[in-house]
Amino acid sequence: MIKYKTAEEVELIRQSCALVSDTIAHVAAMIKPGVTTLELDTAAEKYIRDNGAVPSFKNYKGFPFTCCISVNDAVVHGFPSHYALQKGDIVSVDVGAYKNGYHGDSAYTFALCTVNDDKKQLMKITRESLYIGIEKATAGNRVGDIAFAIQEYTERKNRYGVVRELVGHGLGEDLHEDPNVPNYGKRGSGPKLNEGLVIAIEPMINMGKKEVINNKDGWTIRTKDGKPSAHYEHTVCIKKGAADILSSFTAIEAAEKANQELCSDYY
Ligand code: MG
Ligand code: MG
Repeated sequence: MIKYKTAEEVELIRQSCALVSDTIAHVAAMIKPGVTTLELDTAAEKYIRDNGAVPSFKNYKGFPFTCCISVNDAVVHGFPSHYALQKGDIVSVDVGAYKNGYHGDSAYTFALCTVNDDKKQLMKITRESLYIGIEKATAGNRVGDIAFAIQEYTERKNRYGVVRELVGHGLGEDLHEDPNVPNYGKRGSGPKLNEGLVIAIEPMINMGKKEVINNKDGWTIRTKDGKPSAHYEHTVCIKKGAADILSSFTAIEAAEKANQELCSDYY
């Protein structure tokens, strides 16, 4: 069942999303070679709790961490660990925060300084596909219009693999609500998008084939062919004309840019 949100509820979700975006930016400032993904997770949890919220993912269906941190061939749901990030890695940081009864959800993929052109391109196209999907997230369209636009751009135009097993979702009082928002599908199909629907749009795009495997930890999803994968996510509210993007990459990008400028110090 789809739960449409009131204007008041949308504002509360916006606050949770703002905290998520700030948390990812906080983590982004720490992303450099040598930092472990567990250190990033610990910092994210402290930041969320210091701001009067609860990490949405922690204990969600038994997930044991605050962030999903997925490095290289890990697609999503990666466990933070003692792995120290290194030059050439790409790492997606996915964060949810629960405050005043509502969740926010967003994700961003970072490059560890100099990554190869193939990885750079994968990140660029995946990020662009998120905004191409958001362009279709307007009242009167259908979920399939978002799905088709993302698949068209990533799979048909750029020959990447679109993960089938994992999809975007509605959210609000629950982290995952109806409808599912796949990154593949047919134009004009699926549930109708009406004003007040809040959804997370989150393309998960593989450099190689679309197939994924489940890690033995029971959570981490990896590409079957071992090639890298990228993931970007915004929470948006459906409006007439253009979606209202409730999460933001602005502070994240500023932290990312500052990091890139420090890269020459690391090598
Ligand atoms: Mg997420
Ligand atoms: Mg999500």
